[in-house]
Amino acid sequence: MVQLLTRPAATTAANQYRAYTRHNFRDLPQVSRLSPAQVHAIDVVSQVLPFKTNNYVVDELINWDEIPDDPMFVLNFPQEGMLRPADFSRIAALVDSSQGPDVIRAAADEIRLSLNPHPAGQIEHNVPELDGLRLPGIQHKYPETVLFFPGSGQTCHAYCTFCFRWPQFVGMDGLQFAMKEVGLLIAYLRQHPEVTNVLFTGGDPLVMKTSRLASYVDAILDAKLPNLTTIRFGTKALGYWPYRFLGEDGDELLRLFRRIRGSGLHVAVMAHFNHPRELSTPTVREAMERVRETGAQIRAQSPLMRHINDDSDVWRDMWREEVRLGAIPYYMFVARDTGAKHYFDVPLVRAWEIFQGAYQNVSGLARTVRGPSMSCDPGKVAVLGPTEIHGKSALSLLMLQGRNPDWVMRPFFAEYDEAATWLDELRPAFGEEKFFFED
Ligand SMILES: *Cc1c(COP(=O)(O)O)cnc(C)c1O
Ligand code: SF4
Repeated sequence: MVQLLTRPAATTAANQYRAYTRHNFRDLPQVSRLSPAQVHAIDVVSQVLPFKTNNYVVDELINWDEIPDDPMFVLNFPQEGMLRPADFSRIAALVDSSQGPDVIRAAADEIRLSLNPHPAGQIEHNVPELDGLRLPGIQHKYPETVLFFPGSGQTCHAYCTFCFRWPQFVGMDGLQFAMKEVGLLIAYLRQHPEVTNVLFTGGDPLVMKTSRLASYVDAILDAKLPNLTTIRFGTKALGYWPYRFLGEDGDELLRLFRRIRGSGLHVAVMAHFNHPRELSTPTVREAMERVRETGAQIRAQSPLMRHINDDSDVWRDMWREEVRLGAIPYYMFVARDTGAKHYFDVPLVRAWEIFQGAYQNVSGLARTVRGPSMSCDPGKVAVLGPTEIHGKSALSLLMLQGRNPDWVMRPFFAEYDEAATWLDELRPAFGEEKFFFED
């Protein structure tokens, strides 16, 4: 394999972040490669679902010779099939007749509400309380880990077309998680000694300037919570904007990681990579090297998505490359039931075949990955695969994480179903009435 870490410093043009959205994507020279119908589809779909890309993705990740099938193109640019045909026609008619933004927004909001904006009971079940006060910037589902949504990290360097957090990016009233007050988080953590992990998430917490992020992190460090072992950052910055780890603010971020380490805590960068191409540029390799030099660990996770990475070879290459670059493969997720799921979903049996096809071709160092895993209301459920018991086909499943800790690591069986794409489409095997967690 080629070592690409020594190279001239990036040109100022390349490391200058520029976002492209519905409003200005036509400025991209590459758009001349799209047909008028494709440009129109981007315009229509992005009225409903978020659309943002940037110069790094456009110039260094997308292979414009392969559009419209290029996976990095599908990852960022809205596709016509992402809306149901009736919804697409409805918005297209409004756009084509130059309706005002209010009319289009009202129609788009109706469609959004029909796209299950908050799957897996995120709002009802996971928002904790502190002395009777709801804390909507926190989710606490599994005892050991608290998710924290800092107020200014609720966007990303680019948007994944399949994003399950999409309602946060389209300004749907009342649906945004975010919390400005780190003080409330700390008070909550003091009352919950079972928490060992705080996971900064969003959006992407690394869109914040380091000084802002540090104000949250340093407050947690200063609180000296005796049971805290780990601060995690859920981020796609390595994939979408690796320059985040370079330059002045990047240096400050690495100093923050070192400071966390200096307080005796582990720093876990929960990196989101969807395709090995994201691991191939000199910039991402330099960024990963710099993160690792701080003693932080990079763990890599991704959903499995049709049109993007529904291929064993893609996962094999991605896991191999992650290991080579010092990242630990962590989760393969199944597409959640939200947004454009019908466009991206892969049936569970097929997901398992893709997983196995990749897993059998990597060493044990990449077999740290767990999946294909569904983040459902009861917990995280991995598909262990099809099996046969007393001549009857079944699908073997494992509860990796449970809302109730007694459920963790419990194996269970569903009727074999080649078409099912989610837990709620599965029936218990062997004539059982319910799954064990449904009592
Ligand atoms: C996945 C997840 C976590 C973290 O689970 P780990 O297996 O510890 O990585 C925490 N909270 C929620 C709500 C999750 O979905
Ligand atoms: S990086 Fe994560 S939160 Fe951001 S758009 Fe992609 S999937 Fe959504």
